[in-house]
Amino acid sequence: MNSTDIELILDGLSKRYINPKTELIHKNPFELLIATILSAQCTDVRVNKVTPQLFNKYKDVTGFAMADQGILEQDIKSTGFFRNKARMIIECSRKLISDNNGVVPNEMDKLITLPGVGRKTASVILAAGFGIPAIAVDTHVIRLSNRIGLVTVKDPEKIEQRLKELIPQDKWIFFSMSIVLHGRQICKARKPLCSDCIIFKSCNYGFKGRVSDPFKNPFAGV
Ligand code: SF4
Repeated sequence: MNSTDIELILDGLSKRYINPKTELIHKNPFELLIATILSAQCTDVRVNKVTPQLFNKYKDVTGFAMADQGILEQDIKSTGFFRNKARMIIECSRKLISDNNGVVPNEMDKLITLPGVGRKTASVILAAGFGIPAIAVDTHVIRLSNRIGLVTVKDPEKIEQRLKELIPQDKWIFFSMSIVLHGRQICKARKPLCSDCIIFKSCNYGFKGRVSDPFKNPFAGV
């Protein structure tokens, strides 16, 4: 992939995804942090069904830090892995209070010290919570980056590093958000909808399909 290929991909994505945003409902970085912890192994739609009542009940970082774990488990049960998530949310909130005056930090190094927060979650908080350039590597980003041919590895940290080398920094947030939406809507895990894909011509996987079937994808835009 060279810089022209990257430009074509970014241009194609920008035609389909105007101002892409995280689908997790939140009013501030702390709520985004809780929603992102809950979104592990769970859809954003399901998380969004739980969080309005949750944020209304526990209010803020102090409320979550003082929560009864058994009750919190029941409150978030439908998001799955609820025991572990409840424990992480309480520990994370307590650490925020003890280490950072209850404020969500806007630095990767500090974010990843919080219970339940790895690089992916920290990148979501930086990008969607603070508008700081970051690339969150989730299952969609791993799949699409490999299919398109941006990377040839599965390790999330190596993918993040390579994508940051390839993509201009001022496009990191846009790429990160739009590629996740593209993975959900078009480049699905089991059956990518290559014939509806705006970046078909720039994609290794799609291109191979085109070579074997020249009539495939007459509608792709890039
Ligand atoms: S062409 Fe197919 S494999 Fe490539 S990004 Fe589009 S949907 Fe995914």
